[in-house]
Amino acid sequence: MFPKLFKAWNVTHLVFEKDTDTYARERDQEVMKAARDAGVEVITKYGRTLWDSDDVVKKHGGKPTMSITQLQTAGHKVGPIPKPIPPPRSLPDPGDMPVDFEATRPDSEVDVNAQWRETEEKAYGSIAGPEGDFAIETLQELGYPAATTPHRGGETVALKMLDKIVADQPYMATFRKPRTSPAAFEPQSTTLMSPFLHFGALSVRQLYWAAQDAVVAYSKRGKKDASSPPESLTGQLLFRDMYFAAQAATGAPFSQTAHNPHCRFIPWHLPSKLDPATKLATFEYETDSAQAERWFQRWKAGTTGFPWIDALMRQLRVEGWIHHLGRHSVACFLTRGGCYIDWERGADVFEELLLDHEPACNAGNWQWLSCTAFFSQYFRCYSPISFGRKWDKNGDFIRRWVPELKSMDAKYIYEPWTAPISDQRKAGVSVQGDGLGAVREGTYPKPMFDFSERRRICLASMKQAYSIGLFGDDARVLDGSWRDLFAGSKEDLDMMDRLDSDDGENADDGDHKERVVAGKKHASSTPATKGPKQGTLDNHFKKQKT
Ligand SMILES: Cc1cc2nc3c(=O)[nH]c(=O)nc-3n(C[C@H](O)[C@H](O)[C@H](O)COP(=O)(O)OP(=O)(O)OC[C@H]3O[C@@H](n4cnc5c(N)ncnc54)[C@H](O)[C@@H]3O)c2cc1C
Repeated sequence: MFPKLFKAWNVTHLVFEKDTDTYARERDQEVMKAARDAGVEVITKYGRTLWDSDDVVKKHGGKPTMSITQLQTAGHKVGPIPKPIPPPRSLPDPGDMPVDFEATRPDSEVDVNAQWRETEEKAYGSIAGPEGDFAIETLQELGYPAATTPHRGGETVALKMLDKIVADQPYMATFRKPRTSPAAFEPQSTTLMSPFLHFGALSVRQLYWAAQDAVVAYSKRGKKDASSPPESLTGQLLFRDMYFAAQAATGAPFSQTAHNPHCRFIPWHLPSKLDPATKLATFEYETDSAQAERWFQRWKAGTTGFPWIDALMRQLRVEGWIHHLGRHSVACFLTRGGCYIDWERGADVFEELLLDHEPACNAGNWQWLSCTAFFSQYFRCYSPISFGRKWDKNGDFIRRWVPELKSMDAKYIYEPWTAPISDQRKAGVSVQGDGLGAVREGTYPKPMFDFSERRRICLASMKQAYSIGLFGDDARVLDGSWRDLFAGSKEDLDMMDRLDSDDGENADDGDHKERVVAGKKHASSTPATKGPKQGTLDNHFKKQKT
């Protein structure tokens, strides 16, 4: 299509935003070649990240940035984070843009999205869209069912939301991610800016400088409790840049274990199948364990029998967004803290369901949570029972997303299988069934395993994998001979004294040190409840008004 457009519109320059995602790099190479062939000058600018990720990689010796400190050091060598520039006051007249030429359909009819289409897609109907205004197709025009998410896109909405957040200077300036509640809903406790950043509806530099300016102005007022990276809002954006630069340095293997020298090899269940030609993971996987497959299907459907996990997975399916610590909970549960299933399975599901899906951030965070890269304290594990309860004693978040349990006594809502039959009856729900297939009305499934037992098995297995110490590019990982090294029992109960429930307080701290307690090593942690209480955005707005 581009060669046709270049000619029909007398194009002299092609200007676009640089994109370091693997697929985007390949695509852009093709487009740039077509432009060069047509004598069109190409200008690319970076704008998706705070710094140009390729520059960060150069300043970091060509290596991926594996911690926020490494990102900051390399970033400072690149230079100060640029301020956002104002929109242009006018645009040059593009001249005639005839659209009356035939579109050429691609030779192959491969349609990777076919499984989600309900009707025929009409995207190829006309280059300028049905109204001739170059509008983006609606989901229905692309053949998909209507969106279920209440979140709406576009720059106008993004700027309105940003204005609201900026108006609450204390919220912005004292934002500490581990103190924001994963159970808050309508409104959520964090900014919900991620989908806008992903789609380019909001400049990441605009958000960064709004947050930084708020910190400066707040501190100037004599306030002492402004936050700083990694927990602050600016810190969150640095994490984003860290993952982008790590991906830019690693290339396509960043989103998988195989051939990725920075990702630990753990013999997870349901590993990805590889395409021998490209060495890249296909979306298919080995079903090495029927039980793991059942657990995976239940996790995906939000019918694990653990209400906290199910509520999060159902919110994700309907809204396309969940809080960061909610993502921590479900990712830890699927991998090293429950099912021992490959993080790539979880990343695939997130890719399908997230509104803010960002290849670098998704793969990177899944590696963090599965302790395969970026973070290694695998003995810190999120409990699907006590972690949610810490934030939401009454279980309101569960009542919202798992309506089967809406009348369950708060005492049992995180563990409904422990409710006596009389309490189940009173709540109008019966805990029964395996959570597969259609769930009978008036029932909620039994938990798919004993969490304490699974946590112990996972921990012992993680310990074994860490001591063997293979990474994704090891010949033994690639030729399958890793199996000889992992032969024997995975049970290793001497790890029991190191079991530690993660309360999320150090969720942003990949480097945080262990402390020694009574002769045993533990990760240092203080209950989040000790800090100043932080409410939802709505509370902040209410406070503003009064
Ligand atoms: C398993 C897992 C998968 C994830 N997948 C994605 C993804 O595909 N796309 C994505 O944008 N984020 C992803 N995240 C990171 C994070 O959960 C979301 O960015 C955040 O929850 C978005 O909500 P918010 O805009 O309210 O965040 P806020 O807390 O308000 O933060 C502001 C912005 O900082 C950035 N940010 C915050 N935390 C992170 C982080 N840990 N890593 C990277 N950027 C961050 C986001 O752009 C976010 O919009 C993932 C986290 C986990 C644990």
